[in-house]
Amino acid sequence: MRVENYVSPWEDADLVAFRDSIRRFVREQLLPHEDKWRQQHRSDRSAWLACGEMGMILPDMPSEYGGADGTPAHYAVAMEELTYAGAMSIALSINHIVGHYILASGTEAQKRQWLPKIASGECICSIAMTEPGTGSDLQGVRTRAVKHGDKYLISGSKTFISNGQNSDMVIVIAKTDLEAKGSRGISLFIVDTNTPGFQRGKCLDKIGLPGQDTSEMFFQDCEVPADCLLGGVEGQGFVQLMQQLPYERAEISIQAAASLERALALTVEYTRERKAFGKSILDFQNTRFTLAEVKATVLASRLFADLIVQRWVDGTLDTTLASMGKFWLTDRQGEVIDDCLQFFGGFGYMNEYPIARMFADARVARIYGGANEIQRELVGRSL
Ligand SMILES: Cc1cc2nc3c(=O)[nH]c(=O)nc-3n(C[C@H](O)[C@H](O)[C@H](O)COP(=O)(O)OP(=O)(O)OC[C@H]3O[C@@H](n4cnc5c(N)ncnc54)[C@H](O)[C@@H]3O)c2cc1C
Repeated sequence: MRVENYVSPWEDADLVAFRDSIRRFVREQLLPHEDKWRQQHRSDRSAWLACGEMGMILPDMPSEYGGADGTPAHYAVAMEELTYAGAMSIALSINHIVGHYILASGTEAQKRQWLPKIASGECICSIAMTEPGTGSDLQGVRTRAVKHGDKYLISGSKTFISNGQNSDMVIVIAKTDLEAKGSRGISLFIVDTNTPGFQRGKCLDKIGLPGQDTSEMFFQDCEVPADCLLGGVEGQGFVQLMQQLPYERAEISIQAAASLERALALTVEYTRERKAFGKSILDFQNTRFTLAEVKATVLASRLFADLIVQRWVDGTLDTTLASMGKFWLTDRQGEVIDDCLQFFGGFGYMNEYPIARMFADARVARIYGGANEIQRELVGRSL
């Protein structure tokens, strides 16, 4: 779907072959279920296992932990192919994020216990940061974890949690020290969702991504062994979050760039076929001028996303670049899909048309992973 047959500099022969196999798999094994998942508001567990089998959940994880010894570029390819196909119901990115929290910050025992199951799709993950009272300001979380001997009792409420109905394990952000100032009292816990005291709330009714089970979660004296504390040391949660958030933002950036490419391809195809006043919609000067702008934006977005992928592969991706990509690419995603939808006329408003789904699905990209205003704040600090 790249414009002008552009080839990303990071895409070598191995990645081209990987892309081919993922593309076939997504179109043959996932896409046929997409409508069913949208209706039931969650993906099927069997699909996660199939994705695990394809090696697309944690391709960039060392094989000793169940990964495929690949690079973030393999993961970028998987994300792009899901986006190009419109297979948006299976939120693999959460497993990827959680896997990397554990790889970066977990104890050896935590890595061995969880990573192979996350990579295989046997363990579906959530990450529970947001609460009804706070999202952007994570220092304000009220969920607390109190130590009793060799256990912690976790209590609090979370909301908007992706994979919330399906998840087998959730990383929970909680305060272990209520007296500590700012971020110092925050810790992360790995919680098995079979633990007594954990309860799923309702699956939330959203304007987009209807196939994703975004949910509430409740913890009431949820008793977990002390070795569920990520990394084994209290008060490290905020640092652990800050280390990983750039990668979450990179993932959103990569999906945004792919979604721009898909929107342009779909729109060119449609406007070429659709006739009005005796000619193709594409032949109106207004259409060509608008799509010329779109095409330039799509190419610029691709170059931006490629820089992010390359830096991620090189290990030099920093907060500033990830946040810039997140806000800039998702802002363009919103504008471009809106422009493209216009050329579909009334069909663009019908959910059976991919452009309508893309329009609704794209809106959240400017909100989750840290609202775009927060990303501008972060970039502003680098000036
Ligand atoms: C579909 C979906 C999936 C999600 N998945 C997850 C998940 O898996 N795990 C999870 O923990 N959370 C998840 N979230 C939550 C998401 O990350 C939060 O909604 C987001 O961080 C914003 O927090 P909030 O909703 O509390 O908004 P608030 O913090 O109340 O902010 C509202 C708005 O205020 C403005 N604002 C806030 N702070 C500032 C500032 N400093 N400067 C300028 N403007 C500001 C922004 O415009 C912002 O959008 C998900 C949300 C959705 C909708």
